[in-house]
Amino acid sequence: MLACNDVVKQFAIRRTWGSRQVTVVNRVSVSVEASHVLCIVGESGCGKTTLGKVLAGLLAPTLGSVTVDGTLLYHPGNKAWEREALKIQLIHQDPFSTLNPVHTVREELSLPLLHHQIVPKSLVGEECEHLLTRTGLDPKVVIDKYPHELSGGQRQRVVLARALSVRPRYIVADEAVSMVDVSSRLIMLDLFLEIAQKERIGLVFITHDFGLARYVALEGTIAVMYLGRVVEFGGTETVIHQPRHPYTKVLLSSIPPLQAGDDFKIDKVYPRSFDVPSLELLPPGCVFEPRCPYAFDRCQSALPVLSTVVHEPGHQVACYLEDEETAVV
Ligand code: SF4
Repeated sequence: MLACNDVVKQFAIRRTWGSRQVTVVNRVSVSVEASHVLCIVGESGCGKTTLGKVLAGLLAPTLGSVTVDGTLLYHPGNKAWEREALKIQLIHQDPFSTLNPVHTVREELSLPLLHHQIVPKSLVGEECEHLLTRTGLDPKVVIDKYPHELSGGQRQRVVLARALSVRPRYIVADEAVSMVDVSSRLIMLDLFLEIAQKERIGLVFITHDFGLARYVALEGTIAVMYLGRVVEFGGTETVIHQPRHPYTKVLLSSIPPLQAGDDFKIDKVYPRSFDVPSLELLPPGCVFEPRCPYAFDRCQSALPVLSTVVHEPGHQVACYLEDEETAVV
């Protein structure tokens, strides 16, 4: 299992009058098991990319911990975690920026295979071809090409092949199809899911698009993030069909109906404001209060904590409306 426990990530922001700490990820605990999918959904700036990097072993948390199959990552006294971190591979939004422009596909795939001694040197060429075939590319066509000679979809498949080269147990895919041509996006998503299932890989899929989250994590879980915190968490079907947090409802209201007869129906909820507060100047109380159409007096008093919804084990929400409804019942 890949898990983060009560993770906080802060960065120092420099201003003309000095610097201050900004909390980009605030007390987040999420996990994913092998063969399962966890989607992290939220708008730009909600902290989902930073959380993805912390989960992938690329950023140390300021507080809290990350474990992979029971081993603590970022453990200064235990160098073994660096080897463990190989089990987690991050796939970025922009494949062009992650591929070396002066490396052919063959070189790009050979390097991790040789560096981490995944296969004997004599078998590296064969393994490169195998990785490309697994990701739906014809080795004969692409293996000696440079990134600029490939389409967006081909580049992202090469990035996926490179991630698979080190035999990962978990993949963190951050907006991984947003720069892929629309016509290839669904095929790419299916490829992620097929490989994750076949190879028993746990997939953390980060997206701002609830429509994609719904498709990818149909049988998994969804964590909805807002300004660094998880505000709702639960099984995909539950979160999508019985959303409890007003922010989740706002995000779901932005999904256009795909086709007649689509079973997804929700009463549209619109925010009071489209301005997202700055992380440097968060409102007192609930951070969604300035935009929440249901806000009431108590919402400004203190931050609501993530709590399990009554009679819905596994479904958690951070909103005072829950207490009000429970009180009425
Ligand atoms: Fe809205 Fe209040 Fe719930 Fe925050 S706690 S989401 S302001 S109703």
